[in-house]
Amino acid sequence: KRVPVIAGNWKLNPNTLSEATNLLKLIASNFLYHRSASDPEVVIFPPYPFLMPALELLEGTGIKVGAQNCALQESPGAFTGEVSASMIRSMGCDYVMLGHSERRTLFGETDAKINAKAHLCLKQPGLGIILCIGETLEEYQSNLLESVVEMQLKKGLAGLKAEDISSSSLIIAYEPCWAINTGIAATPQQANTAHMAVRRTLTKLFGADVAQSIRIQYGGSVKPDNIEDLMAMPEIDGALVGGASLTADGFTRIVDGA
Ligand code: 13P
Repeated sequence: KRVPVIAGNWKLNPNTLSEATNLLKLIASNFLYHRSASDPEVVIFPPYPFLMPALELLEGTGIKVGAQNCALQESPGAFTGEVSASMIRSMGCDYVMLGHSERRTLFGETDAKINAKAHLCLKQPGLGIILCIGETLEEYQSNLLESVVEMQLKKGLAGLKAEDISSSSLIIAYEPCWAINTGIAATPQQANTAHMAVRRTLTKLFGADVAQSIRIQYGGSVKPDNIEDLMAMPEIDGALVGGASLTADGFTRIVDGA
């Protein structure tokens, strides 16, 4: 049985350290006496400058912390403005998110770069990745969903072997571009069908046993009022939440609904 995983992607939010600290304290107080063995795994992905405050303020809550990206280079080195997988792991982060559609479309993140970053992350003991994939609206309407996610998975995970993969080292986030920040979530059936295509590709890449152990999150306009229906689907193992993760109550309700 796969342990559900709910992640909050803060993107470029909030605006200041004091707002981030306030949000983290509220989340921490909601979660401190909140967890039982059957709870989902919970991960928050703040911007880099808020990683250390997040690690400190969430200590004892069971909530894990991850980075939204990492450098294409290893540290130490002369790569101004970059943050390495090693630095991220050394702080105590458990995950790095790779290949978010905003990074692909706005920042020129290619499958090849994502793949190189995946290798760098998985070289760090204890660091896992959330690999984000998903088709555009045009691709969806042209029935290209399965071929697009298959290609993104094959290229993004190239060179990784079944023995490199465990349920804590690789999570897939299926996020259809047309559902991100639009208020129009995929229906549970649409998402489940996409996740079946993802797992078929994972089976081809890593074999059935490993593929069955990998968690596949749905992302795109997840809210407290649609999380339960999404999580009721057999192939949906969690959610990657953007906007609704930016209030403590919203995020807590989503975790509770999962
Ligand atoms: P929203 O939940 O704001 O649609 O964002 C989804 C997302 O991109 C999470 O990574």
